[in-house]
Amino acid sequence: MARYIGPSCKLCRREAVKLFLKGERCYTDKCSFDRRPYPPGQHGQRRMKFTEYGIRLREKQKVRRIYGMLERQFRAYFDRADRTKGVTGEQFLGLLERRLDSVAYRLGFAWTRADGRQLVRHRHVQVNGKTVNIPSFLVKPGDVVSIKERSKNKVRVQGALEGVERRGVPEWLELDKEKVAGTIKTMPNREEITLPIQEQLIVEFYSR
Ligand code: SF4
Repeated sequence: MARYIGPSCKLCRREAVKLFLKGERCYTDKCSFDRRPYPPGQHGQRRMKFTEYGIRLREKQKVRRIYGMLERQFRAYFDRADRTKGVTGEQFLGLLERRLDSVAYRLGFAWTRADGRQLVRHRHVQVNGKTVNIPSFLVKPGDVVSIKERSKNKVRVQGALEGVERRGVPEWLELDKEKVAGTIKTMPNREEITLPIQEQLIVEFYSR
């Protein structure tokens, strides 16, 4: 699956919000957004005026970048949420949060979602005791997500787990730090997705 491989910090500056794409560095004073909180480029420091369309586009781009997805796959999630019963925006965010790479990140096994994706891709992650190497795999309540026995002591996993308190584990997940495993307690609630997202703007963007 193709993915964005350009500079991550530029994305935070473009979206005018910290997207936490670089892991530990995001929590230090090396954060580019903290140092230069304006859009990248020659005219970045000029005052920007957005149209209605521009506001919605930026919100969509922001969320797409948080979850590290290209447009086609992102749109497919939206279409799926649109076909599901319930509030489309909430269903949409729920689907994104339930991805295995995102869950590995939320449980603290990885510093970022991109790291979580690599852990999954490299076959370090198991669901209910079975190796799953598909980052888009959707977890459901009752599933147990863990790191393979031989990978538990990997420096990158242990390093990420050390920072888990600072990042926080959402209520819908339960982490067992000793076992490097976590249980999906419920479906994610909108209130538990604490990212600065106005999903209604994305619904409006795709429904135009
Ligand atoms: Fe964004 Fe700062 Fe992390 Fe760079 S270091 S990805 S600017 S939050």
